[in-house]
Amino acid sequence: MTVIKSLRTGLLLLFGLLCGFVRAQDPSAFYIANEGVLVSDGGMKIMFDPLFPNTYGQYLLPPEEMKQAMFAGEAPFDSVNAIFISHYHGDHFSPEEIYHLMEAQPDIQLFAPNQAIIAMRSAASDSGSAVFDRVNSVNLGFNDSPVTFRNNDLLVEAVRIPHSGWPNRMLDVENIAWRVTLNDNATILHLGDSDPNDDHFAIDAEYWDERAPNMAFPPYWFQATPTGRNILVNRIKARSNVGIHVPNTISADPILRPQELRGRDLFITPGETRLIPTN
Ligand SMILES: [Zn+2]
Repeated sequence: MTVIKSLRTGLLLLFGLLCGFVRAQDPSAFYIANEGVLVSDGGMKIMFDPLFPNTYGQYLLPPEEMKQAMFAGEAPFDSVNAIFISHYHGDHFSPEEIYHLMEAQPDIQLFAPNQAIIAMRSAASDSGSAVFDRVNSVNLGFNDSPVTFRNNDLLVEAVRIPHSGWPNRMLDVENIAWRVTLNDNATILHLGDSDPNDDHFAIDAEYWDERAPNMAFPPYWFQATPTGRNILVNRIKARSNVGIHVPNTISADPILRPQELRGRDLFITPGETRLIPTN
């Protein structure tokens, strides 16, 4: 009887999914801190810049309880498939903590710029550790063409965008904008600390036209400046944007923010979430 019942429920669910009145869980984004974000779609989970040691006096650190849940593989950080690192700066990446997380969670793949991987090898107790079999490094120079990886149900695309401050400072930083498509369903763009100058995007105009993200995570200075907003609207064309890297002086209450950030969607409080719009 129970078998028949669960068979009937299963068939109803399948029928519902086929007809579109039952939706598989919508993709969503969960804010960790600074530029740290967890994205889930169906059974798939990825994280961007989840562990880092420095606030530089103005950014939030990942809360201690979130870090413990990551290392223990507890919700919402259970079954994470991949981690993406934007660049090797102390408010984005801890070589030691990411190495230890990879040791603790043996199914996680890491995607990171070569500069970060070199730092992780020197931080590792065993630089030949099997952890490095799960590391995918990109080695992109200034103005190099984007690269693509296929990893089961993840389509991973990477392009180097100069770090903010270009052309005066931090020219040597390999800052990677990761464009990741989960389950051929939701495309997510994480811009790291990209510089909001259209020259960096114009050279890969076709690349940006090829796949509009369902959700983009630009550092808040893209939303705060006309040049940045122009890139979001005319190059990246994401369905939705949530600003990250927001200093702790910016209020969660839009009225208390500087005018240019009042109408913008920003990640401010660790643990807050957004649904990612899909078709
Ligand atoms: Zn930063």
